[in-house]
Amino acid sequence: MLSFEKLYSMGHEEVIFLSDPSCNLKAIIAIHDTTLGPALGGTRMWQYKNEEEALEDVLRLSKGMTYKAAVSGLNLGGGKAVIIGDPKVDKSEALFRAYGRYVESLNGRYITAEDVNITVEDIEHIYTETSFVCGVAKIHGGSGNPAPYTALGVYRGMEAACTKTYGNRSLRDKVVAIQGVGSVGFELAKLLDKSGARLIFTDINEKNIEKMKEEIPHAEFVGAKEIFEAKCDIYAPCALGASINDETIDKLKCKIVAGAANNQLKENRHGQILKDKKILYAPDYLINAGGLMNVSIEFEGWNDGKSRRMVDTIYDTSLEIFAISDEQNIPVNQATDVMAERRLDSIRKISKSFLGNVGNVGHRFPGRKKRQ
Ligand code: NAD
Repeated sequence: MLSFEKLYSMGHEEVIFLSDPSCNLKAIIAIHDTTLGPALGGTRMWQYKNEEEALEDVLRLSKGMTYKAAVSGLNLGGGKAVIIGDPKVDKSEALFRAYGRYVESLNGRYITAEDVNITVEDIEHIYTETSFVCGVAKIHGGSGNPAPYTALGVYRGMEAACTKTYGNRSLRDKVVAIQGVGSVGFELAKLLDKSGARLIFTDINEKNIEKMKEEIPHAEFVGAKEIFEAKCDIYAPCALGASINDETIDKLKCKIVAGAANNQLKENRHGQILKDKKILYAPDYLINAGGLMNVSIEFEGWNDGKSRRMVDTIYDTSLEIFAISDEQNIPVNQATDVMAERRLDSIRKISKSFLGNVGNVGHRFPGRKKRQ
């Protein structure tokens, strides 16, 4: 149940329930925090068991976006949306256009993009109705597939972890075990291979396994369960979340965990366990922020060089987070939150001193030119 107590405890500014029976639209937009700028976060379409589950998901994901933007140095707030429905059955132009009109009505406080089960084609329908959308097709001035930029960010995070662990950033001859060679994992594998790293990988999708075997034939394939105990320098979770858990953590033989997946630690306490085992954990929501950085510059005119330069900053920011972790003797996942909260607090103080205590509701975004 949504209550003010819940919103207060998680720090949300606004939660909006959208409904349009004519096209079977049932969606929730959650705007978590707009201290740094308008809330940007993708729309996910999922067949939730019930509305409660959808609400929990959107509240958790939108809060995560606030922290991701803050630690990445972006002038964006955190927001996310979920559409309740079966993507195979319930998608329609009418549904996405109705949803787009709701996004437009928020006048730039929330900007949407792709997330799980939302394609560029769906985004194009949303874009017909609102200018507050990114991740649109390249022919419409968008940035296209974010995976190569996400992979580059993960690679920079790995370099930072190598600097901290081995004294230099080179990945040459490092053994990297990748769990999941989908969009991001495959791009990451190509970057690592090019820099002379040795690869072990796993996946459960035959097509992706074959693609990897063709592209990098010398990479070693192992079963989905064996990946955790692979003898490697770096374990790179690039599949689903929670791959570091009570069952897997004792199997790890790596010195570093650095990957693209969101929420890699099943519970926060697993961050402390990694620290105790002297395994360096690269902060997941920072090092996988390359895709967000990439779309964030769409409104000012996207170009590849600008995007890559922004993503490169993940190296230095990761080192700063490792330093906070050492200074305060706290696990890296906690140090990442500390860094994000420091930035949010510093901007909250400035807004209060200039504007009085008016809250954050002033942020809106001019948006892009609407699709004709
Ligand atoms: P994807 O679906 O393209 O790839 C995931 C791959 O993992 C698939 O090949 C899948 O078969 C494999 N997989 C699933 N379960 C597995 C298991 N138990 N063992 C081994 N392999 C398994 O997804 P993606 O876009 O590459 O994203 C990967 C992760 O990175 C996700 O957690 C996603 O949330 C996160 N992420 C992605 C982006 C992006 O730009 N795409 C940005 C930020 C974070």
